[in-house]
Amino acid sequence: MLWVTDTEGRFSYLNQAWHDFTGHPAQAGPTEHHFLDAVHPDDRENVQSAMAAENARQMGFQVEYRLRRADGEYRFAIAAGAPRKSEAGEFTGYIGSIIDNTERRRAEDSLREADTRKDEFLATLAHELRNPLAPLRNGLQVIAKSRHDPESVAHAREMMERQLHHMVRLVDELLDVSRISRGTLNLRRERVELVSVIQTAVESSRPLIESAGHEFLISLPRETIYLDADVTRLSQVFTNLLGNAAKYTPPRGRIELTVRQRQDMVVATVKDNGIGIPPRMITKVFDMFRQVQGTTERPQSGLGIGLTITRRLVEMHGGTIEASSAGEGQGSTFTVRVPVAQNPPQYEEEPDASPRGAAPEISPAPPHAEPAPHSLATGTRRKLRVLAVDDNEDSALSMAMVLKIMGHDVRTAFDGVAALQVAEEFRPEVILMDIGMPKLNGYDTCHLLREQPWAADILMVALTGWGQEEDRRRSFEAGFNRHLVKPVEPDEVKKLLAELG
Ligand code: ADP
Repeated sequence: MLWVTDTEGRFSYLNQAWHDFTGHPAQAGPTEHHFLDAVHPDDRENVQSAMAAENARQMGFQVEYRLRRADGEYRFAIAAGAPRKSEAGEFTGYIGSIIDNTERRRAEDSLREADTRKDEFLATLAHELRNPLAPLRNGLQVIAKSRHDPESVAHAREMMERQLHHMVRLVDELLDVSRISRGTLNLRRERVELVSVIQTAVESSRPLIESAGHEFLISLPRETIYLDADVTRLSQVFTNLLGNAAKYTPPRGRIELTVRQRQDMVVATVKDNGIGIPPRMITKVFDMFRQVQGTTERPQSGLGIGLTITRRLVEMHGGTIEASSAGEGQGSTFTVRVPVAQNPPQYEEEPDASPRGAAPEISPAPPHAEPAPHSLATGTRRKLRVLAVDDNEDSALSMAMVLKIMGHDVRTAFDGVAALQVAEEFRPEVILMDIGMPKLNGYDTCHLLREQPWAADILMVALTGWGQEEDRRRSFEAGFNRHLVKPVEPDEVKKLLAELG
């Protein structure tokens, strides 16, 4: 849109594009009122003072304002004006343009939002990778100290395997998501039976589902159905959905996997009766880095990229995925639709640079690399009553093992509510507590405990993956005496306890 003013800033010309945009009919005579009419009332003064500014007559000006479109919607517009000069060099008015800047602003806003989410993701990533490190480090200590106690060693080893497995999964997810961003994720499709896809997913999800005490129901079609699919990748879709169902459903819930054929599509649903998804998040859960729960309510849960990967994999198989939920606390259902195989069979071979499923090569560390184990035994130090609280049971139990080796009397709790109960009866002198826990987070638990007269002198230590200044401040506000960032060195704990003993 183009315009021209006289020396007083009166609009002597507004072009057809301006009239079309604003819906003001073009007519003879002065048009300055029209111009201002279309400016949002709150922005008029701003526009006028930009034009009247001292150096605008020399240098020109630029101003952003809200411009009313013919349909009544206000759009962000940028008006830019340059001074017109007579031959003698006198100012004779402005000539300028107006552009609709709304789309660009939106794009900028969404870039900023994506950037914020990326920052949050990096914090989450650091947190999630640190979480398994604590039990791994504790496990190493336990093994070093329990050479003559095969049961403890076996127990520690199992725990370390679980945590290592969790960590490998996180790293696999990260690799997948970076392949998706770079567009280098490839499928190795072949003619496969649907059942084998489901079986693979069920096998790898079952331990997680059963350890949470969920009821698991599977209903499969009677007929044999073939797909042109990448077995590993398609079963990953169902592993992710089943894993989420297990994760976002309180213990002893119910998870149902139903598979049916509808015309030339396979329709598979994963349904749970868990925490559900609020309506405003129902489409957003597939966004990269998106997680519904805040960081302090969330159990150790993941990176917020599982569903992004899941959706991409489904789409690469020519399918769709959608989520539905009646709302918070009402359970969730994820529905996947993928086409059944067409005849004749279509084989598609696409090499994947780094095939999954191949066993990773682990080279043994040179024997001399292992530092001499620290001495954990307390010697003559006083025996303390210590409560270790963490919703990651391996973290709590391995910390307890380390503390026991140090000679203390230890109890564990796996959530905030249980911690309150155990503390009431056990009357610990020290509490080591995780922050991000379901039901009652560490801050609230600490706060509630501090209200009890008997808990005033307990040494309360926050153990968390979150190490920002802000996180420390919140810990102290909640009543913690100390804030340690995971993975905590057993030595650090030993020193801390020595202050008491
Ligand atoms: P995450 O690693 O956080 O699990 P996902 O991409 O798998 O990431 O899921 C994104 C978010 O969607 C989760 O953080 C959770 O808030 C929500 N979500 C996924 N599955 C379910 C489910 N079955 N029930 C409730 N919420 C879910």
